[in-house]
Amino acid sequence: MMNKRLLVTGGAGFIGSAVVRQAIGSGYSVINLDALTYAGNLNNVEEVAGSPSYIFEHADICDREALERIFSVHKPDAVMHLAAESHVDRSISGPSAFMETNVNGTYQLLEAALGYWNTIGNRADFRFHHISTDEVYGSLGESGAFKEDDPYSPNSPYSASKAASDHLVRVWHHTYGLPVVITNCSNNYGPCQHPEKFIPTIIRNAVSGTPIPVYGKGLNVREWLFVEDHAEALLTALERGTIGRTYNIGSDNESANIELVEKICSMLDERIPSGKPHFDLVEFVEDRLGHDFRYSIDSTRIKQELNWEASTPFEVGLEKTLDWYLG
Ligand code: NAD
Repeated sequence: MMNKRLLVTGGAGFIGSAVVRQAIGSGYSVINLDALTYAGNLNNVEEVAGSPSYIFEHADICDREALERIFSVHKPDAVMHLAAESHVDRSISGPSAFMETNVNGTYQLLEAALGYWNTIGNRADFRFHHISTDEVYGSLGESGAFKEDDPYSPNSPYSASKAASDHLVRVWHHTYGLPVVITNCSNNYGPCQHPEKFIPTIIRNAVSGTPIPVYGKGLNVREWLFVEDHAEALLTALERGTIGRTYNIGSDNESANIELVEKICSMLDERIPSGKPHFDLVEFVEDRLGHDFRYSIDSTRIKQELNWEASTPFEVGLEKTLDWYLG
């Protein structure tokens, strides 16, 4: 795929910007399509913004006319679709934007991509890579891990809207032949994540001496993947994934929320001792509505078929994250 043109949606966001940076570093030309909502920040792609291989298109994925123009002007060889509303709490208090961007926006993008794909010569080489979440599979008990063929069972407006978008992408392959690949990933952490998310909130509040809010008793379990590992997995799935196939992406780093807070606080105690443990700032708050207990990803398929495995140990990734947030 070297020198190929990649249309990345949501490339000013947390994961999209890591994809843009890595793709340019690997020799792709990138068109970054982003509406710059509250979650988008062009500083995230500052290091590649001056590259001749980088173009920014300020557009909304719900705007079909803009999408059609962008496809016809830039003639991408592949699409990596990351643009989304992504915060579960916001989806509970205001689901509408999630339905609009994640469902309708994905539909508009699929239609624009299909219209373009029908006009090109090398149709088998084109890819529409849809980036999704493990949250579509629902919630697990103490044991087990999500597999690609598990039934969908989303529990929040966010995960329901992502599940809907996954189904649309699958159908645009099954019905119209669009060459798609879908990936479903566990929770990401790393530089450039929006401050509203859990790990940036822990760091910010610990550093400023404000209470660190933890839902319920902090027992909910998440599997944490370093964002640069995710970006690498995504480029692997784009390049070598089988058309029409889904790949789960995880790290095997499971942690209860309270353990994660403990880990980050003790790292901060070492870096910026404040006289008393940062962990003392923890404040348990009323649990999130419908809070999923545990997510865990079975990544066997991507390991065996595409030879990809997460390589960043949790402590190393967290140190890099702290380096970035502490500046
Ligand atoms: P993010 O919220 O940091 O970034 C989303 C980006 O999409 C922003 O730059 C925003 O401006 C842009 N955007 C939003 N609505 C748009 C629209 N209508 N048109 C064009 N651009 C729009 O999200 P993220 O955490 O980087 O997640 C990226 C993708 O990965 C999402 O699809 C998300 O569902 C998925 N995902 C995220 C995680 C995670 O832990 N963050 C885990 C698994 C999957």
